[in-house]
Amino acid sequence: MVEIIRASEMGFCMGVRRAVQMMESEATPTNPVFSVGEIVHNPHVVRGLEQRGVHQLPGPDEIEGDIGSATASRVSDGRVAITAHGVGERAFRQLEDAGLAIVDTTCPIVTRAQRYGQKFVRDGWHVLVFGDPGHKEVRGIAGWTLDKEGRSHATIVDTADLDTLRRLVEEFPGGFPSKLGVMVQTTHRMEDFAKFVANLMLLQRDHNFEFHVVNTLCHATTGQQEAAAALARTVDVMVVVGGKKSANTRNLREACEEQGARAYHIEGPSELDRSWFAGVQRIGLTAGASTPDYSIDEVEARIRELVEFS
Ligand code: SF4
Repeated sequence: MVEIIRASEMGFCMGVRRAVQMMESEATPTNPVFSVGEIVHNPHVVRGLEQRGVHQLPGPDEIEGDIGSATASRVSDGRVAITAHGVGERAFRQLEDAGLAIVDTTCPIVTRAQRYGQKFVRDGWHVLVFGDPGHKEVRGIAGWTLDKEGRSHATIVDTADLDTLRRLVEEFPGGFPSKLGVMVQTTHRMEDFAKFVANLMLLQRDHNFEFHVVNTLCHATTGQQEAAAALARTVDVMVVVGGKKSANTRNLREACEEQGARAYHIEGPSELDRSWFAGVQRIGLTAGASTPDYSIDEVEARIRELVEFS
């Protein structure tokens, strides 16, 4: 008998659940809400919300110039939603200045990171964010590090590699800042952030700078990563469910693979392949923070069909 075992922590996190509930309660098909950018990195959730009157408009990264006026020209009744990943201060002000009513679903954990970025810069510190420069949340956090002239004082670094960090310090335009506030993309892995911080300490031996670290990691995702890794050690194969664009889902797969497990990242049951389960006894199942319960249920049901009729 093949066992399918779910990770002890998986699926919708507090921030995504809250954002989806806020949008669902605000929108109806006749009284829609327009989200500025993708609501969550999960096409199933986005389609479901679309049917309930939550429509998606381009986000700050997709619009050149003033997002407020660009959005206002497309929104009929003036209600726009900021997504769980948040937006930078300039985009936020432009939406306000355009007279749009804002439904702000930014996850409180992301808001906390934004506020720290803002405070560091007000106190005269440069902000170093360990994260993916292309990720909405990270760009949003960097977007709250503006000075009075509207210049950003954040540098985003996507590697903890010591040599790369050394080059960053030595070749920083205008000289490396002497005071740094260090933060991390909420969904990054704790081990990677620890290495990043440890390598900054090593660089302090040869370079004159000080830094303060704020741990902006999200406990929901670190808990999911630990649960996925623990499960991966005990099963023959892991199935990881979540949007292909979802950073935290990709991290879950990585966490499983680091335990030596064979792991497959899928968005839905149609991607499952019977051959993955040939001869296995124990199948582990986990899901990213933007994966709804019904998607996980559908995947589990399909795995059951594949193993029962193989
Ligand atoms: S993963 Fe964490 S930080 Fe991101 S939306 Fe969910 S609860 Fe918030």
